[in-house]
Amino acid sequence: MSSTFGQSTVLGYPRIGANRELKKAVESYWAGRIGAAALADTAAELRAEVWQQLRNARLDGIPSNTFSYYDHVLDTAVAVGAVPARFTRLGLSALDTYFAMARGVDAEPALELTKWFATNYHYLVPEIDGETTFTPNPTKPLAEYEEAQRLGITTRPVLVGPATFLLLAKGADPFARLDELVEVYATILNVLADAGVEWVQLDEPAYVADRTPAEIDGLRRAYTRLGELAKRPRILVATYFVEIGDALPALLDTPVEAIGLDLVAGPGNVRRLAAAGPLGGRTIVAGLVDGHNIWRTDLRAAITVGATVTALADHVAVSTSCSLLHVPVDLSVETRLAPELFERLAFARQKVDEVVLLGKALRDGTAHVPVPPQSAPEAWHNGDVRARLAALTPADRERGAYPDRADAQQARLNLPELPTTTIGSFPQTAALRRARADLRTGTIDDSTYAALMRAEVERVIRLQEELGLDVLVHGEPERNDMVQYFGEQLDGFAATDHGWVQSYGSRCVRPPVIHGDVSRKAPMTVAWSTYAQSLTAKPVKGMLTGPVTILAWSFVRTDQPLPDTADQVALALRDETVDLEAAGITVIQVDEPALRETLPLRRADQKAYLDWAVGAFRLATSGVTDATQIHTHLCYSEFGEVIGAIDALDADVTSIEASRSKMEVLDDLATIGYRRGVGPGVWDIHSPRVPSQQEVVASLRLAAEAVPARRLWVNPDCGLKTRGYEETEASLRHLVAAAAELR
Ligand code: GLN
Ligand code: ZN
Repeated sequence: MSSTFGQSTVLGYPRIGANRELKKAVESYWAGRIGAAALADTAAELRAEVWQQLRNARLDGIPSNTFSYYDHVLDTAVAVGAVPARFTRLGLSALDTYFAMARGVDAEPALELTKWFATNYHYLVPEIDGETTFTPNPTKPLAEYEEAQRLGITTRPVLVGPATFLLLAKGADPFARLDELVEVYATILNVLADAGVEWVQLDEPAYVADRTPAEIDGLRRAYTRLGELAKRPRILVATYFVEIGDALPALLDTPVEAIGLDLVAGPGNVRRLAAAGPLGGRTIVAGLVDGHNIWRTDLRAAITVGATVTALADHVAVSTSCSLLHVPVDLSVETRLAPELFERLAFARQKVDEVVLLGKALRDGTAHVPVPPQSAPEAWHNGDVRARLAALTPADRERGAYPDRADAQQARLNLPELPTTTIGSFPQTAALRRARADLRTGTIDDSTYAALMRAEVERVIRLQEELGLDVLVHGEPERNDMVQYFGEQLDGFAATDHGWVQSYGSRCVRPPVIHGDVSRKAPMTVAWSTYAQSLTAKPVKGMLTGPVTILAWSFVRTDQPLPDTADQVALALRDETVDLEAAGITVIQVDEPALRETLPLRRADQKAYLDWAVGAFRLATSGVTDATQIHTHLCYSEFGEVIGAIDALDADVTSIEASRSKMEVLDDLATIGYRRGVGPGVWDIHSPRVPSQQEVVASLRLAAEAVPARRLWVNPDCGLKTRGYEETEASLRHLVAAAAELR
């Protein structure tokens, strides 16, 4: 790369390795099986592989510092010295301090983990407090740049930009410390320039959300100051995930040389660019290839957009819309996908080729652009599903009046006051994981596997009876993942063999692909639920994943509006609820932990989203009679903007995370007039800590101030699959005893 930006680049690349080598290496390091040097070797190999691959693909602009042992926001925290004293105090090596922040140690809980904008990637929330002294620590970006140089590859170091970094941080008004932090970035840029770095990329995705005038001013101030440095690399400020707002004119007031815009999720960026006036010789890094989904780019359409941008800017480079972190590494290893699906997909490697091709096409004309495959093959269409969708009426999303439902349900269930229940999963033991692995490798057959799972269900039912819980669950032992499990059973979905995407740290997920009209081949959960119900006289909750969450954790087709796909999934779930009911299941929970996470970043887009999201949930849950009790479960505590939607879901009982937020969510629900059942979590299952009976009683007393006791349920915050049996039994015992004490 030279002083000009070049023709093609990507904003970031998967770092886990084609075979999740990074996951294996860091987990081995944590387990003490390999040392820091071996870990560093694997990391260097992975980086070299990516850089060489990008170079061989003839990409001009190759990013560095996009590798991370755990998380790039955490890396940036380290680079600016934002390591909380509670971790430096531990006196560990730099690497172990880093992992302590990421994962916690006995004495210190980890930094908080939260969703990276509207993706399923989680970053570690920087903690900024009075003790934080920002200090430049450019070791990692510098070392990676030099490592690539030694391979003969010139790279562009990437960091989270200072404004976004502070907007993502927690503490007392972190953003007030912007000017101070910018000086630290200034030093880092000096050091990088000294090493010969020509371009840096500073990511400012926070500026695609609504921002206050003060926050916009901060951005302008930050990049004016960095831009005016006498010695610095050229700066690309990258934005992504939606359309940039008032931040565009602010950035144009500064001397930054390049601005990255997402033209996939933010097509309106073209209009904004046109309205922005002269771009002053800046490079526009045009995100034309979707970094957040796995469909091949319609190259001709992308060229049209690219040409429009080219007419507006002196120089345009083609890029991905966001980092490729959010897609799997390589499609070419997927040998079991149907050909008509395979030819329509592109993973990270294939997307790089698209970027390069688009860059060339924009420069040289469009002669060599391959024609994309025709629209979806006929086999993916399902006339029956389409007809059902077309025939839907508002009545299909309505149940009877809640008071009637509540009476009918109580007449049937006869539950005590403060009924106790859990969220669905019980601990995933080593034996269960082994059984699943053995099934995959063919060591055991389907019937042996099913027998093992049935034995587990029986064990979990007996345990719950012994503990004295009121509404039981089957424990979900048969589920590999709450979305994948349904994806594997529904038509219109496909699974990949190696399509892993980093979710957080070493945790990777393999999202299914929704490519066609969705329909249910056969009942999906009825056999498990009815088996569990046959073992006990207590009600056993049926357990389904809701339409919004299924979409959020899949790669979704883009050839029809999202609400239609959501409704198709909802219809399949509706059929499942009706079958569960017919089979004698009286309580059904439909989980929507992703309802909050996929909320659009811009307020202007939120209502439309919540309308279809709520509509799909109601479609899924309104097929049953009044006497069947519908539960839902939502994770994460920041419900602010969705509180009205929680009410609109019209579930009979909503269980919700509340133990960390000290029951505040109940006041919010009371304020909007929520009148149905609610189960605020009284045990924070994200920690192995066992709450005492007194603590649970205290939480419930607090809850009862906001919600009348007759509508209050007693349950943990979330599913128990990541917990061990020891703390599970102890905590549930206290929970049941606390409910009994208060009755
Ligand atoms: N029913 C699921 C479980 O208990 C819910 C998980 C979730 O909320 N993420 O595991
Ligand atoms: Zn949950």
